[in-house]
Amino acid sequence: MPATFSDVEHPDRTTAAPSPSLNHPQPIHTPRCLSCGYDLSGLPETGVCPECAAPIERSLRGNLLRFASPAYLKTLRTGATLALVASILYTFDWIPRLALGALLLWLRVDLTEALGAAFNISALAAMLFGWWMLSTPDPAFIGADDSRNWRVRLRWLLPVAATVILCNAIARFVFAGPLATSITLGSGRGSLSLSYAELLTWLSRVLHALVIFAGLKYISSLALRVPSVKLRKGAIDAATMIGILITLLVLMIIFGIGGRIVGFLYVVVGTLGLSAVIVLLLWIFHYFTVLGRLRADLSRSLAVAESIALADLARNQLAPADSIHPPPITQSGSDAS
Ligand SMILES: [Zn+2]
Repeated sequence: MPATFSDVEHPDRTTAAPSPSLNHPQPIHTPRCLSCGYDLSGLPETGVCPECAAPIERSLRGNLLRFASPAYLKTLRTGATLALVASILYTFDWIPRLALGALLLWLRVDLTEALGAAFNISALAAMLFGWWMLSTPDPAFIGADDSRNWRVRLRWLLPVAATVILCNAIARFVFAGPLATSITLGSGRGSLSLSYAELLTWLSRVLHALVIFAGLKYISSLALRVPSVKLRKGAIDAATMIGILITLLVLMIIFGIGGRIVGFLYVVVGTLGLSAVIVLLLWIFHYFTVLGRLRADLSRSLAVAESIALADLARNQLAPADSIHPPPITQSGSDAS
């Protein structure tokens, strides 16, 4: 995927310069309320939003996740949890399969293959839904959103991937006969023969990989709002590894076809395959670390956001509802990360 590679090398402009939100509040052209998006220009910094009563000072601090709405952060965290748990179940699916198989053997029921497929599909569906939740737009985002591009790409990819993956799973059972027909690409010794079933399976695998690639790129920009350098670096590394894996697989196919003509090339295919396995194992470790770290960061941001929301609520109850000059904010919680 050349397009994605160039993105790894030349990430969006946010990577070139450290995000302004990392150190100090970024200059905002049209100040907007972080909770409801109301235009705050011309209003005093010490006041509250006329629409939702959120303190204006908080909105002017920028888009750090700890200042986001707790409901939004909860959605993101649930999404991260789903994606993480489903990925673990999917990767190590032989464990529950083995347990189910043992149970069914004991019950003398022969359903293992169908159950295994059902389990696999549930894990995939949970993972895709987790990514969908994780890519929820922030209703109160101010200014240019660094994570927007990859978030939108991810959201476009998800329904497509879900459809293909689901079709692949169902078709395997319903149209097993017609799908076994193979098609041949090219001719002579360089030809490649694949059945429709294999083609569909590979298509769903590629889409699955693309979803995770887009998801990791999105997390790398979301990390700017934590802010977390470790999370950002981990996500970028894991995305790069997907690129390396895809390159290795493509090279394996090319050298595999070449190997039919020049036998020696099979040695190259073997080496590439071994490298791919090593990169894959490293990648799995990286990917789980990134999702786990993201979940922990979201939990921390959520805890701070909730304490800020509580403080806001307490102050709103103390101050008269129609006051436009409430007492200055006590910044409880905002330093607690
Ligand atoms: Zn508001």
